[in-house]
Order: sequence, then C-alpha cells, then structure tokens
Amino acid sequence: MKKLTALILALVLALSMTCAALADTLTMCTNASFPPYEFVDGDKVVGIDAEIAAAVAAKLGYDLEIMDIEFSACIPALVSGKANFCMAGMTVTEERKQSVDFSDSYATGVQVVIVKEDSAIATVDDLFAEGAKHVVGVQESTTGDIYVTGDIEEAGLGTVNRYQNGNDAVMALLAGKVDCVVIDNEPAKAYVAANAGLKILDTEYIVEEYAAAFPKGSDLLEKFNTALAELKADGTLDAIVAKYINTGDAE
Ligand code: GLN
Repeated sequence: MKKLTALILALVLALSMTCAALADTLTMCTNASFPPYEFVDGDKVVGIDAEIAAAVAAKLGYDLEIMDIEFSACIPALVSGKANFCMAGMTVTEERKQSVDFSDSYATGVQVVIVKEDSAIATVDDLFAEGAKHVVGVQESTTGDIYVTGDIEEAGLGTVNRYQNGNDAVMALLAGKVDCVVIDNEPAKAYVAANAGLKILDTEYIVEEYAAAFPKGSDLLEKFNTALAELKADGTLDAIVAKYINTGDAE
C-alpha cells in the first residue's frame, strides 16, 4: 500500500513538473498605481488591464505574470526583453511607436485636471492663460507630462513637478506643493474619491487611445489582437470594464 502511494505521488509530481514546463508564461509589465486599470489589492495587481491580460493569456494558453514597475520603466522593459508586453493604460503616441509596437486600442482615456476644491483654477484654459504661473504635478513620462511640458513649461506659463506615480502627484497636491495634477480621467476619479477636498475640472484637456505595447516585431502582437477582438465580440471586455467603471446609460 505504501509503495502504491509512493508511486502515485511520484507520478503526480512528474506530471505536474511536465505541465509546469509546458505552460509558457507571458510577463506583462505595468505600474500598479493607476486605478481602475491597475492597482494593488493585497499582494495582487488587479484592475481592467490585469483582467484583460489574464483573459488574453488564457485564450492563448499562457500563464500570466505581472511585473509592477515605474511607468517610465515600462517601455525600456519591453525594449530590453524583460517583459513580453505592457498594459498600463498606455496611450498610443507616434513617439512611442518609434520604440514599441501597439495592439489595437481597447479603451479611450482623457487627460483631466485635478485641483483642490477651493482652487482659483476653474477651467483647463486657465492653465494656458497669459501670465499664468502654475505649478503642475504629473506622473513622469506620461502623456500628461509630455503635454504640459510643451504647453506650460516650454511656453513659460509655469513649472512642472514630475512624480514616479499618480498617487505621489496627488499627495503633492494635497500638501500644497503643486496647484493641480494633470492625469488620466479614470485614475483621477479614483484619487478624488479616495481623498477629500479634491475635484476634477469639468473641461477635458486631451482625448487619447489606450493599447497594449510590445517589443518591436514581437510575434505575439497578432495573436494578442485576435484574442482581444474575440473578447470584444463576446462581451468579455465590456464585462471586465463594467466591474471597475460605472459606465451608466450615457456611455
Ligand atoms: N495614459 C497615460 C500615458 O500613456 C498615463 C498612463 C499611466 O500613467 N499609467 O502616458
């Protein structure tokens, strides 16, 4: 009997080792301080991007591993081959296309402005008004950073303070170190909900498209797009988004 148990155990072990060796793992990099697209819950990275990535990986027969790094480190991680792809609410830009390939878009993002409730800044245009001298907080290397660097810093209309993640930028706003934070609309909503005394200006700054990024020439890209299209068609994508964003009737 003991022998039989040992034999079964050995077989189970051998089988599980074979399976582990067969199941290839895809490594996705992200910056998990961008709710509801990616954030840390306990010891796990969760959110819209994490769930879409898991659904795509499952469809393609891969395990998924998520690497949580600074946003500014995501494209370098793809270029150096440390990650197979990146989902980080990343906006498609012509400049980024020089270093990475983008999947089809899976979401729209809007750059918005967070201010303190009693702020003198009432509209996005106030930031670009003649003689404006605001200190604007952004997350380093994001499109928010790129836009305000051009529209405000280089235009002589103020200075830009760059933070490693959105949360640090919002903490700087609460501490009075910056006059506003330019960031994507969904994380903005999450940060305003989590911190009293803040609001989002009604006017939008810039509308963008999010996509997954891949090392240039990656043969995963086409398979990813096919899986993504299937997830869009069968309603999985909408169901994932609806778990995290209250889309309401209007959208
Ligand atoms: N959408 C913005 C960008 O691509 C911000 C992304 C992020 O902070 N995770 O730059």
